[in-house]
Amino acid sequence: MFLFNPRKYEREHADSRSRELVEKTIAFFEKKGLQKIKEDDQSKVWYQDFLDFIKEEQVFASLLTPAAYGNGDCRWDMWRLSEFNEVLAFYGLCYWYAWQVTILGLGPIWMGDNEAAKKRTAALLRAGGIFAFGLSERTHGADLYSTEMTLIPQPDGTWLARGSKYYIGNGNCAALVSTFGKLADSGDYVFFTVKTDHPNYECVKKIDTSGVRQAYVAEFVLHDYPITAADILSRGKPAWNSSLNTINIGKFELGCASIGIATHALYEALNHAAARILYGRAVTDFPHVKKLFTESYARLTAMRLVAWRAADYLRSASDDDRRYLLYNPIVKMKVTGQGEKVIGLLHEVIAAKGYEQDTYFEMALRDIGMLPKLEGTEHVNMALIVKFVKNYFFGPVDYPEIPRRCEAGDDGYLFRQLTGGLSSVRFPDYRLAYKGNTLANVAIFREQVELFRSLLAKAPPGKAQAEDIDYMLAAGELFTLIVYAQLILENARIYKTQDELLEQIFAFLVRDFSGFALRMILSYENSSAQEEIFRAMIRKPAMDTASFTWVWGAVYALRDQYVMNE
Ligand SMILES: Cc1cc2nc3c(=O)[nH]c(=O)nc-3n(C[C@H](O)[C@H](O)[C@H](O)COP(=O)(O)OP(=O)(O)OC[C@H]3O[C@@H](n4cnc5c(N)ncnc54)[C@H](O)[C@@H]3O)c2cc1C
Repeated sequence: MFLFNPRKYEREHADSRSRELVEKTIAFFEKKGLQKIKEDDQSKVWYQDFLDFIKEEQVFASLLTPAAYGNGDCRWDMWRLSEFNEVLAFYGLCYWYAWQVTILGLGPIWMGDNEAAKKRTAALLRAGGIFAFGLSERTHGADLYSTEMTLIPQPDGTWLARGSKYYIGNGNCAALVSTFGKLADSGDYVFFTVKTDHPNYECVKKIDTSGVRQAYVAEFVLHDYPITAADILSRGKPAWNSSLNTINIGKFELGCASIGIATHALYEALNHAAARILYGRAVTDFPHVKKLFTESYARLTAMRLVAWRAADYLRSASDDDRRYLLYNPIVKMKVTGQGEKVIGLLHEVIAAKGYEQDTYFEMALRDIGMLPKLEGTEHVNMALIVKFVKNYFFGPVDYPEIPRRCEAGDDGYLFRQLTGGLSSVRFPDYRLAYKGNTLANVAIFREQVELFRSLLAKAPPGKAQAEDIDYMLAAGELFTLIVYAQLILENARIYKTQDELLEQIFAFLVRDFSGFALRMILSYENSSAQEEIFRAMIRKPAMDTASFTWVWGAVYALRDQYVMNE
């Protein structure tokens, strides 16, 4: 079975400590139980019990300290981190959020060259500390160039930090807040740390958001907070790079969190529908309900195949292989968007029950939409993705094949990533992913891919179209789906995904691709050559009842396989 199930936990781990960390986390939440999780959520209770558990079991210390700064079982290993995101979000997005912003806060520290700060951080993690990432400012959103937080030089060689930050998770109690700003004299970017218990650190308020309600998302102000060289993590280009490279890691995790939410919601919706009798028959007997579940399962499996494959590339990243820079935003943007889609489909089944206070679903419904918005909206990521189009299709280069990367290892490259030069990132021939695959819907999708390539070669966007972000974002959806399909095919081979499931996955990919092509025709001005190709892209998937029946059987077999402890 490919989906996470706490009752039948199975995943290949390189060592027993890694498995133990997950099993203890499962045990913590199952002991807490759904009712208490919901009560805490509704009362917006700060998750001290979770933080106590993290400290006692040294969970963050083991998982988030690079090998060089921790004891034997510490390493930064994306194989374990990817799944841990899923596990936390499976129980509640607020727990995941405490972990996520800790990772973001740690990024600029592990990426900087301040060795003393790194050692201090490792000790703080051992002491159960959580961290925060002070990047966003109230008026500037994604526009980091406009950052106003400033370090003002003092005659004795120190600085005073002046400015405020907005939407900063853990801003109430983080052991350290990695804060992004500018040096007043040179205008250079800088990353420095501040402590939340310092008198010049004012935690102004908790910004109440409808999701992750238990988290403390803070506005904070630094009132001439004294900074010395010991607090500086990086300056100039390395500081700028730290902000982008930290987000590169963080954005990947959002996709994994989305999978965790959708998985728990799937179990809950299925258990409910299978047990609910209407007009004398189970809700799961309705043909449209079977279809909704089958599609949800196909989309959810695809999300996991994509995210885990992207993790293989993340773990294999080097200055010579930066393909992860395309695959990561795909996980962030597409996987999180698909999570919303799955919850939408499941909500059609669970209906009124999905709003009830005692269900997990009620939280899923509320929280799932946050993931595409955090750490750069879908638009920002799409704007990034389209930079790779040319090299993806034209001028392929050879790379050694990347296997499943489940071995123990410290993914240190993530802390010294190269930045810039996105349009120089190269790819192997995308057609390799299709080699040997004869499934009907895979073949139809492949024809759609070739039409997209011929669009680029024969009728590429004109100057006005290329300058119209709206047009490029819409066209980018087609490209995104092509890369998404590539990652699915690669991982389906590794995980030996059943043909029937793959057939159903490609059925929705063909439909989605057709939908995006139709939108290009209906919503935009195109040349007649472009329109002709967009029209040809609109294809119908093979209506394969056998594969549908098989996947429905696989979904239905999951009923009552997981029910959370009350
Ligand atoms: C619950 C929560 C927790 C958060 N936690 C943290 C945290 O711990 N630390 C932190 O630093 N931040 C945090 N954030 C901030 C979050 O990362 C920002 O919300 C996000 O980066 C987007 O900024 P914005 O929402 O202000 O949108 P804006 O940047 O204001 O965007 C407005 C619109 O412009 C579009 N847009 C902007 N730039 C581009 C572009 N280049 N290309 C195309 N379209 C563009 C956007 O897509 C959007 O439609 C948090 C936010 C929330 C809600």
